[in-house]
Amino acid sequence: MRREEFPILTTQVHGQPLVYLDNAATSQKPQMVVDAIVEGYTHWNSNIHRGTHYLSQQATIRHEQARQQIADFIHASSAREIIFTKGTTDAINMLAFSFGEAFISQGDEIIVSALEHHSNIVPWQMLCERKQATLRVIPLKEDLTLDTEAYASMLNARTRLVSVAHVSNVLGIRQPVEEMIRLAHQQQIPVCIDAAQSVPHMPIDVRQMDCDFLVFSGHKMYGPTGMGVLYGKEAWLNRLPPYQGGGEMIQHVRWEGTTYNELPYKFEAGTPNFIGSYALSKAIEYMTDIGLEKIAKEEGLLAQYAEAQLLEKIPGIKIYAEKQEKIGAISFNMYQEGRLIHPFDIGTLLDQQGVAVRTGHHCAEPLIDSLGVPGTVRVSFGLYNDREDIDRLIRALQRTISMLS
Ligand code: PLP
Repeated sequence: MRREEFPILTTQVHGQPLVYLDNAATSQKPQMVVDAIVEGYTHWNSNIHRGTHYLSQQATIRHEQARQQIADFIHASSAREIIFTKGTTDAINMLAFSFGEAFISQGDEIIVSALEHHSNIVPWQMLCERKQATLRVIPLKEDLTLDTEAYASMLNARTRLVSVAHVSNVLGIRQPVEEMIRLAHQQQIPVCIDAAQSVPHMPIDVRQMDCDFLVFSGHKMYGPTGMGVLYGKEAWLNRLPPYQGGGEMIQHVRWEGTTYNELPYKFEAGTPNFIGSYALSKAIEYMTDIGLEKIAKEEGLLAQYAEAQLLEKIPGIKIYAEKQEKIGAISFNMYQEGRLIHPFDIGTLLDQQGVAVRTGHHCAEPLIDSLGVPGTVRVSFGLYNDREDIDRLIRALQRTISMLS
């Protein structure tokens, strides 16, 4: 049923009905999100804020309502804590720059983990280079979970910030972020959570989690591309300098100097993506109508089914973080007579059978290097996937094996 609400899912690929299992890269959009974009450009497109005319007011109302909806969705204390960005990457870069300007100096330390996406590595590396600070990496244990004891011992008086993924985009496993935040807060160290792979799959409550910052992308949660969020506790955001200068982020501009706008506008220079924010609010409505608990439960059962089927029906398979609870994604490799079948070959042959998966390093090269393979095959789920999709995947993998042998 839900499937029918996503027009792209009726696509035929190489003469076969599409099975879309690349949701961790980007999800498909329900009709109501597509309609929201068309509606915006058709009926009320106009630049927001300070507009005295009707269209501008209509656009402004929708943009600010979307901000409030997002705040409610993640249980932020106020809409002032929601900064619109282009996506997770943009949000982390914004934070790295801004936090770095205010709080990082030579000899300071920032902590990330060994399984981060490049966008939660490189902005911090760049900051550390700029400020002659040190990036420290929480190691993984043999079972590919974070070594939390090592983490606890890494926190010290020089640590300025911890930034970790809530759910790994490669392994689909959840990190114990609540405990990590608690430990960091014992030493007054703020924590940023990269929630790009958790927000689409489970209820998020930033106040309960007690994270100081949280970032995510609209396009991975059935919303539009070019739209993301940086959540920050108001007390922290007030202490950070603006990231970019320009319109919207100012209070007054004089040749002698400029005063900055209040939150959240201080961080939103230039014309924002107001059609995108409206479309994202529709994606949130779509998910909320189904219910986040329900989405989490159904996808959890589907991931369990997929892992069990892969283990039972695919000879020579190696699933990473096998038997651990998977959220949204499963990564694996396949071996024939002890030799790795290159994941790219598997991805290509699956595509020819209408099955879309992602192969390679998934923008997490340090993690993939540590697994000692050139990449993995990753299947990732959305709320429209069902057992039939998994059965098609399994049949396509079996056919792939016979084609390669
Ligand atoms: N962080 C994680 C865990 C991700 O999975 C991704 C994208 O795959 C990103 C960050 C980057 O997201 P975006 O490309 O939307 O900025």
